Amino acid sequence: MSIEQRPAHGGNYARGRGVPIDRVVIHVADGSYDGTLSWFANPDCNVSAHYTVAMNGRVGQSVREDDTAWHAGDTLMNRRSIGIEHEGRPSVEPWTPSDAQLRASASLVAGLCLRYGIPADRTHLIGHNEVNPKRTARKNCPGPTWPWERYVTLVRSALVLIQPPPLDALAEVFFEEPGGGEVRMTGEVTRYGGLTVTRRDDGTVLVSGKK
Ligand SMILES: [Zn+2]
Repeated sequence: MSIEQRPAHGGNYARGRGVPIDRVVIHVADGSYDGTLSWFANPDCNVSAHYTVAMNGRVGQSVREDDTAWHAGDTLMNRRSIGIEHEGRPSVEPWTPSDAQLRASASLVAGLCLRYGIPADRTHLIGHNEVNPKRTARKNCPGPTWPWERYVTLVRSALVLIQPPPLDALAEVFFEEPGGGEVRMTGEVTRYGGLTVTRRDDGTVLVSGKK
């Protein structure tokens, strides 16, 4: 995944962490991809997120993962989490994340889960609105149109592609039906229960079929 580097202004985040990273916090930016990255670079804004994902799937990084971005409105959550903004304007018009945006975000998060040992579940992948549920001002970040069930499934599917589990563990993993023929498969194909497991020449595994 190619990631555009657009550093935040040094006054909009804190150096270091102090605690292990064990959460991912999902946001909708209420702005454009470019506008969000520019805003984090503005010395007047005093907020930031590590990543921003565009509707077309492009990903920009504003803050290094080793540093604490200011996105969750909660000091401890900021220190323990990676914050990901998503381009969209729910305050202006009805918004649902695009397919390209969801897939790029899930792929990004799968890498985080792998690097930090974060479980790909709803305890560890949360919305900004779930950080402090009583703060109703954030109830629309990322809002009711964020498809959590599908998103977690996409993250788990991406994890399988990055790091294939042993075949006997595949039944424990949830999968999404791959899009119609968009992945060209070569190599050995094994039927495993109701799943089709394709080992590609590069060593990755594609799993298709219902869980
Ligand atoms: Zn938010």
